[in-house]
Amino acid sequence: MHDDNPNRSTPPKLNGVRGMNDVLPADEPLWRAFEEAVADTMRSYGYRQIRTPIVEHTRLFVRGIGEVTDIVEKEMYSFTDVLNGEDLTLRPENTAGVVRAAIEHNLLYDGPKRLWYAGPMFRHERPQKGRYRQFHQVGAEALGLAGPDADAEVILMCQRLWDQLGLAGVSLEINSLGAADERRAHREALIAHFEAHRDQLDADAQRRLHSNPLRILDTKNPEMRGVVESAPRLIDFLGADSLAHFERLQTLLRAQNLPFRINPRLVRGLDYYNLTVFEWVADLGGAALTICGGGRYDPLVEMLGGKPAPACGFAMGVERVLELMRAQGGEPAQAQCDVYVVHHGDATLEAAMQAAERIRDAGLDVLLHCGGGSFKSQFRRADGSGAQFALILGVDEVARGEASIKWLREGEGGGRQATVPLDRVAEALADAIAGDASI
Ligand code: ATP
Ligand code: MG
Repeated sequence: MHDDNPNRSTPPKLNGVRGMNDVLPADEPLWRAFEEAVADTMRSYGYRQIRTPIVEHTRLFVRGIGEVTDIVEKEMYSFTDVLNGEDLTLRPENTAGVVRAAIEHNLLYDGPKRLWYAGPMFRHERPQKGRYRQFHQVGAEALGLAGPDADAEVILMCQRLWDQLGLAGVSLEINSLGAADERRAHREALIAHFEAHRDQLDADAQRRLHSNPLRILDTKNPEMRGVVESAPRLIDFLGADSLAHFERLQTLLRAQNLPFRINPRLVRGLDYYNLTVFEWVADLGGAALTICGGGRYDPLVEMLGGKPAPACGFAMGVERVLELMRAQGGEPAQAQCDVYVVHHGDATLEAAMQAAERIRDAGLDVLLHCGGGSFKSQFRRADGSGAQFALILGVDEVARGEASIKWLREGEGGGRQATVPLDRVAEALADAIAGDASI
């Protein structure tokens, strides 16, 4: 149709939402290598994958994460479903969803369950390196297991994953948050300490002084370092049972030669943790980066309406692990296809498509040239594709029931060309890839 509007302008460019990233094909090999290592590791410990919805009722997170937390106070993408008025939230983490699903489907009816998940999470934070608004987590949850053996297992699982990914210098910090009554006694002492040093608290800390003073220890404000360092330590308030759990975890880790550091300030961001907490910290360009955090959260299943069941687990930030893999040179090679099919166009299309399908049957990756063009321009594409071979179907060759294989890469057979029967191209290419020079 004739466009007679002289004022028509191109529509404005549409960009993605700030803090929410595209994973482009060039990054895909790294993501895939990571995801495969995760699936292998989880399987090797008997953990099974669970997938829960991205959207949950807002009250699940308010109850399951805690009202006085960074996440619930200011980071959630919450909205009202305009169709039915429900208050919904894009999941900021997946533990609450996994526990909700385990209760809803009665997964614990026949004993403990070892579960893992992976997927996007959403938090309205100020975007910066390693901190995004849509990011990805992989996590594991051991539901129904009470002992330090389960704590040690989820920690060992992380170490095995770092090893499998070839990551070095990821160090483990652990602490114990004890039981509720122990935290209560510590809390009194903590409030007294912070009240005595009120002038050194920032606005956030002043606000939390009476609602959640433990979280003040988790501050990222360097100006509060002094007042936090001198605060009473929770570990000094632990009773015999909590200490025994913590000691046993340490002996189990030592027995597996897994080094760790006890960090008495480690409290974790979520309200429902008890006993063991841990973080994996790596050095990225001189800055400490927490790539994974976890611990025990025995009260959570009951808090979310289930029959009481102990639980522990962890969540790791995928983008941060990938950043570390990049920094340590762990980028896998780009995936390239094996064969690029060059052909004459419409007259040879059926034969070319047929040949490509047969080659794929043989397990090879094939790019079939689409859209015509001279042989010269097709060979340029074939070169750029990274394919090892071109399969060439000219009109005369197809009429004779033949095709040619061309070696595209330097080294073995570079530049060579061989004619093969069309009904044997798949076998011939498989032989050629195996290094058989007789074809
Ligand atoms: P932080 O103290 O860095 O805000 P957090 O305590 O909020 O972390 P968790 O809720 O324990 O983090 O999430 C587990 C892991 O998920 C973190 O250790 C981190 O690697 C990753 N993570 C958390 N928030 C983000 C984010 N906004 N962007 C990217 N990764 C994140
Ligand atoms: Mg946070």
